[in-house]
Order: sequence, then C-alpha cells, then structure tokens
Amino acid sequence: MIKKLTWSDAVKIKRTDRKQKEQAVQISADNMNRIANYHGTSKICYPEYAKSFDYVISCCPSVKASEVSLYFCPAAYLKKIGYDRVAGFYDVSHRVVVICEDTDKITVSKQNGPFESVRGKFEIDEIIVHELLHYAHHAMGYMGISINLEEEFAYGNSVGYLKKKGYSDEEIIRYNFLPYLIQTINTRKIFAQVIGEQLSTLTPDKLKRLFKKHEQEIFDIVEEIALEKGRKLILIYSEQITDNVSINKSMKTNRLDFLDLS
Ligand SMILES: [Zn+2]
Repeated sequence: MIKKLTWSDAVKIKRTDRKQKEQAVQISADNMNRIANYHGTSKICYPEYAKSFDYVISCCPSVKASEVSLYFCPAAYLKKIGYDRVAGFYDVSHRVVVICEDTDKITVSKQNGPFESVRGKFEIDEIIVHELLHYAHHAMGYMGISINLEEEFAYGNSVGYLKKKGYSDEEIIRYNFLPYLIQTINTRKIFAQVIGEQLSTLTPDKLKRLFKKHEQEIFDIVEEIALEKGRKLILIYSEQITDNVSINKSMKTNRLDFLDLS
C-alpha cells in the first residue's frame, strides 16, 4: 500500500541548522532503549525485506548492511517519545535504523496551502532502502559532511531500486524526492523576488499577509526548481546505475553538491 507522508525522511530537517539535524538523528540512549524494549516494536532481521537489504548490499558491498539492527515501531509510540511525523531514521550513535511501521497513521499538517499539500508516497521497503543507504554512507566513513550531501547520497542511490520497482522518473521525483527537495530551496529569496522587496524591511504582519497573497506563485517557482533538481539527481545517479558500479570512496570526487546550490 502506498503511504502518504508530509515529510520524505520525515525527520524535520531545517536546511541550514546542522545542530538541529544532529539532535534529530542522534537520539538518546534512553529513547533507543525505549524503542528497542517497547512491546509493540519488532526487530527485523535479514532475510526479511531481503529486496531492500540486497539492493543496498549490491550498491555498497564493503559495508555489512545485512547486520544492521532494524526496528519497526508504531507511529503512536514514536510520537509519544518525541518523534512525531517520523517515517524512518538512521541513528548514527547506536548504528540502528528505526522505521515507522504504520506511516498512514502519521498525522499530517492541518494547514492546506500548496506547501503543506506536498506529500511523499512511500512504501516501507523504500524507506528501508533510504535509511540503509544512510547507514552505508556513515559506515563508509562519510561522517560530518553536509546534510544535503548525505541526503543526495541516500536519495540518489535509491534511484536504482525505485526504477527496478517500475516507477518512472517523474514518479520518483514527485513521490519520493519532492518533499525533501522543496526544503532545500531558499523560499525566502524567492518570496523577496516575487514581491520585489527586501523582506527585512517588512513587519511580521505584512510578511504574513504578503506571503499568503503570493503563496501559490512562490510555490510554483519553488516547485519548478525542486523538480529540476530532481531531474538532475536522476540523471547523475542513473549514469552510475548504467555503468553498474558499486559505490566506493572514489565517487567522493565526482559527486556534485548541487543540492547545496539553492
Ligand atoms: Zn534521509
């Protein structure tokens, strides 16, 4: 069944706030124990979800993805301990992947503007691939690089898996990438361009009013830039799939940090 989410990764990533991201993925030992010991949590072991594991193993043979501890936890419990609207995450310090087992129960935003209406559509095996790729990325030694590069790695390298499932490029971009890519765009800059004024000169009230008034126009521009980024991402990572190369450290030199160019 297709799941609808407000967030792709679902951990709310503030584009420029590294600290917040670290807090988001480095959960406390307490919470990790809570998740592992909760009666509603199940531990998933290879060969369950073998297709997801096998894909990541084939991309990154140097890391032992089949040995990752992977937990399925209900959305209600994750919310209770502070992980609201989380579809999945890889916890760096505990080397554990946590997946929300019932993403359809994640509450979505009550606002209904164009930005809030962007929804990813993910199946659980796809979330597993994404999070295992985060694990692989760290296991290969890419620690402390930019959030956007980390996400580029996970989204980009999942293209092969999604294509194998029969999704078209546009479906991958719209349903898998878009919620994340929209967050990488500098919406304030586009807002200022649309209204032709410097935002810093306006009162909060006026900003709010103007944003509401021009929201659709701003969104259309943001969406188009995000879609274009998605197309580039597919192009770059499809070449890698065609060449049938496994990911290794050498790719560090030929990756593009284009997700940072917003
Ligand atoms: Zn991610």
